[in-house]
Amino acid sequence: MAPVKISLVTVGHMPRDLKLAAVRSWRSSVFQIVGTAESYALNRDADGPDWEYSDQAIEELLPTQFEGDFLIAITNVPLTDNYYARRLNGNRGVVSLNEVTDIMRAANIPIENAVLRLLYAATLVYKRFGNRIPRTGENAPYTHDETRGCLFDMNAYKPDLVASCDGPTVCSDCAAQLRNQRVPLETVEAVRQELKRVRKPLYYRLADWIRVHPILALIISGIVAVLLGTIGSLIASYIYAALTASSSDS
Ligand SMILES: [Zn+2]
Repeated sequence: MAPVKISLVTVGHMPRDLKLAAVRSWRSSVFQIVGTAESYALNRDADGPDWEYSDQAIEELLPTQFEGDFLIAITNVPLTDNYYARRLNGNRGVVSLNEVTDIMRAANIPIENAVLRLLYAATLVYKRFGNRIPRTGENAPYTHDETRGCLFDMNAYKPDLVASCDGPTVCSDCAAQLRNQRVPLETVEAVRQELKRVRKPLYYRLADWIRVHPILALIISGIVAVLLGTIGSLIASYIYAALTASSSDS
């Protein structure tokens, strides 16, 4: 399958620690970010009762013509029903980092992981609905309420998003549904393989492991300390022997 082309734009102010360049240069065989990085102004106030932006308000801010097969806009403002992603008309979608940013920071997960996870989900949604993005509200169910670390977790409780932003996957139920909806087996498998690279940095993965296995970590650090001490004394002995040999020669 040829990679799906995605136009990725931003609307309004972005968090300073979001590295969108890393998302734009992400190597994938299933999607490709096309076009230049465009930023659109959020030149209107929220129109919802809880200071959220309605789908219509976001739709009016976004371009209707774009290079990609579909367009994803990233914003930092709350959306209808406090969703972190909404599907709009005209093969467009919006991802809100509102609250998501804080959740990712607290879990030491790069914000880019949340964006990549949503791009993979959007790509599979586009394929499973016959190369189109159905609007939110259209009768197009494909998520599950249970949190499985899957791209199609509903995450009604936003912090559950953490489970699918560090080594996410496509669960076996969703993989079977995708096959039934004529998404090639190879595409699903390629997505699963690429998702293994959507990880938090090694340092924080090690820190997580130590938190879960504190006694084992203590034993390993003790063994490493003894080994380092032994290696250090061996090096010192070798240097001393070499110096002694050279002074006796002279
Ligand atoms: Zn699933």
